[in-house]
Amino acid sequence: MKALDKITTLFRRFPGVGPKQAERFALYVIKTPDVQIEELVEALRTVKSSVGYCRECSNYTEEELCPICADPSRNRSVICVVSHPQDVAAIEKSKTFNGSYHVLHGVISPMDGVNQEGLRLNELIERVRKASGAVTELIIATNPDTEGETTAIYLTRLLKDYVPGITRIACGVPLGGDIDYMDEVTLGYAMKGRTKV
Ligand SMILES: [Zn+2]
Repeated sequence: MKALDKITTLFRRFPGVGPKQAERFALYVIKTPDVQIEELVEALRTVKSSVGYCRECSNYTEEELCPICADPSRNRSVICVVSHPQDVAAIEKSKTFNGSYHVLHGVISPMDGVNQEGLRLNELIERVRKASGAVTELIIATNPDTEGETTAIYLTRLLKDYVPGITRIACGVPLGGDIDYMDEVTLGYAMKGRTKV
């Protein structure tokens, strides 16, 4: 069945979806009432057209500024750099951080280097340099794997003359672990135990 194969192939493009799950999704679509499928299609269109990058931190937002950057009680002189929007949500849940964020939307990989599509690295460099000394600490909270470390080293090299304190979360983060899978207690310790790089 051509149409069924097509939709299965499209579902397989979703992260973490294997062939069996893609097939289950496709069969679910077939038996779901039209009105619900229309709702899904409409929601997909809306999210694509209304969500963009926050002008300040590059997190996803429907406004010009995300709620964190728009919050006057957040400390703008401390920036926590994360790879993905999910990491912001995880750190927020740990309630250990009142600074601002920068979302890179990826990390430097040996394959793509700094040219990886969608990587918001230059936005961070520009933001820090433009702040001309107003950023006092940069916490690099990329995953403790090769790519995360490469990104941390790259950022440190480029920004150490602009920020007095560049720290890297360390203690409590298991090697090879994923920031967004970490429980809030572990992540809380990791934030508190950050080290100067
Ligand atoms: Zn923001």
